[in-house]
Amino acid sequence: MEDHYNNYQENKLKEFESACLRCGNCCGAADNNPCEHLIPDKDGKYLCDIYEHRFGLHKAKNGNVFLCVPIRNILFKSWTGSEKCAYKKMLTR
Ligand code: SF4
Ligand code: SF4
Repeated sequence: MEDHYNNYQENKLKEFESACLRCGNCCGAADNNPCEHLIPDKDGKYLCDIYEHRFGLHKAKNGNVFLCVPIRNILFKSWTGSEKCAYKKMLTR
């Protein structure tokens, strides 16, 4: 039963994560001051190079320190390019 529940949770998480457009805007891509861990890939999308351990304090390109938090914690806020965020769009459906 527990395994079944864990699988369900894992699948839900994958489904949720696959909705992300990987635009990088929640990590500063659109305001030209990205997190130091945000890296572009060959398709013009972005990846976090510490994704599994991302939550915590990190530096932006300009040296400012900020706290990386789960996306659900900031969905009611705005950031540059946030109007394109797939998760924000889900909220307004
Ligand atoms: S650490 Fe957080 S803010 Fe930085 S690239 Fe990864 S997910 Fe984005
Ligand atoms: S702004 Fe939204 S869609 Fe874009 S990378 Fe962040 S979570 Fe994904």
